[in-house]
Amino acid sequence: MRYAETIVDLVGGTPLVRLNAVTEGISATVLAKVEYLNPGGSVKDRIAVRMVDAAEASGELQPGGTIVEPTSGNTGVGLALVAQQRGYSCVFVCPDKVGEEKRAVLRAYGAEVVVCPTAVEPDHPESYYSVSDRLARELPGGWKPDQYSNPNGPRSHYETTGPEIWSDTDGRLTHFVAGVGTGGTITGTGRYLKEVSADRDGGPVAVVGVDPVGSVYSGGSGRPYLVEGVGEDMWPRAYDPSVPDRIVAVSDAEAFAMTRRLAREEGLLVGGSCGMAVVGALEVARELGPDDVVVVLLPDSGRGYLAKIFDDRWMRSYGFSTDDTGSRTAPAAG
Ligand code: PMP
Repeated sequence: MRYAETIVDLVGGTPLVRLNAVTEGISATVLAKVEYLNPGGSVKDRIAVRMVDAAEASGELQPGGTIVEPTSGNTGVGLALVAQQRGYSCVFVCPDKVGEEKRAVLRAYGAEVVVCPTAVEPDHPESYYSVSDRLARELPGGWKPDQYSNPNGPRSHYETTGPEIWSDTDGRLTHFVAGVGTGGTITGTGRYLKEVSADRDGGPVAVVGVDPVGSVYSGGSGRPYLVEGVGEDMWPRAYDPSVPDRIVAVSDAEAFAMTRRLAREEGLLVGGSCGMAVVGALEVARELGPDDVVVVLLPDSGRGYLAKIFDDRWMRSYGFSTDDTGSRTAPAAG
């Protein structure tokens, strides 16, 4: 019989799929790493397992303890899975821009959700950073993984995401592209891929971060944008700015249009940060030739955004186009 002991053992090992439609006119191979196929539905399952393992080993997390984390949902799901299997409670603190569906998912896993205003400074007492700090201190057995500074976040990507991509491309990828939120994905995966390719002919893998327009990574001040899970208004310790060779800034409008195209043209129902990352990947790929292989990481599923990006009324209410024909020619009648 072939089966996993627990759902946690199914984290990682996600596949690559070639993008065929949105890459029209591009000669490089563009491969997407489909992280929504993780059991919790996102890339964040990887860091959740690694952070909890490390906290158990160090004694920071004791039997029966409570995990408290500021999360836009995905890290919460990953942590909730691990917590459930190992007997911990979970309290998640998220900004109010996070969709109700995402909060409902966390509650479904048995976690408690506390909602805080998005439009306050990080050091404001009501910010989701401040509230999670206070709860971690006040709740008995409270432990805050802190994905923004925990070195086990980037480490999980160094140990799993990077090696998977290297192995699945037979060491032939030339560019790695990922959105930047905490920076853990780009830092850990990018560092591994650069190290492992350092001495090969043709030079090391180029690492490209993608950031919402207005966020600090691409030179902004943290001006609010609507895409979730990426961009920052401060510099997290999980991010090593020496890893990316380049940062591409993408607008909400471009990110959301591409997210809708990925569902309609590639059969990939993914989140807004995936559309954003693909816009960045295509910008890079347009400059490349047929021997180049670009891998772009798609962090999560589109299920959490059905009432937003995939809802025409929501899109129009922010002035975004709902014309999804893109560059595609209409199918012939009959
Ligand atoms: N997209 C989504 C939907 C996310 O939840 C996250 C995690 N914040 C990211 C992208 C960015 O990943 P990282 O935090 O590793 O930079």
